Amino acid sequence: MIRVGIGYDSHRFVAGRPLVLGGVTIPHPVGLAGHSDADAVAHALTDALLGASGLGDIGRHFPDSDPQWLDADSIDLLGRACAILRAHGFHPLQADITILAEAPKLAAYHTAMAERLTGALGIPAQMVSLKAKTNEGMGFVGRGEGIAVMAVATVEAR
Ligand code: MG
Repeated sequence: MIRVGIGYDSHRFVAGRPLVLGGVTIPHPVGLAGHSDADAVAHALTDALLGASGLGDIGRHFPDSDPQWLDADSIDLLGRACAILRAHGFHPLQADITILAEAPKLAAYHTAMAERLTGALGIPAQMVSLKAKTNEGMGFVGRGEGIAVMAVATVEAR
């Protein structure tokens, strides 16, 4: 049986932190605020996979109230989430991700992000697709206050 999950995440830009998206550190004057490394791409994908498997969300498994996950590497959390999936008989198949960011331009990093994300999922790099869009100057993304990410993932139950 194939199951589909959706994930969403957003983080606010702050000075003094690196910008980490899809496990890749991207040169930018500001980074994203968060308890972990604030990798909104990894977080949205993690939620999509957990959702497809009926296993809750990232906050349930890796709560930000737990100091264990302070400054956590979100690719590591993604890998841990996939281990939880597999323990329940679910296997990641593919994912499609859209990043909403007014800046920076991200197309040059899509391949590197896909390699990092699929490395954690244990699937071929071409099974995760990434796209980036601006928000045409509208809303919090358009004002450059932060980044939002949407992800859809499929898992196979076997
Ligand atoms: Mg997050």
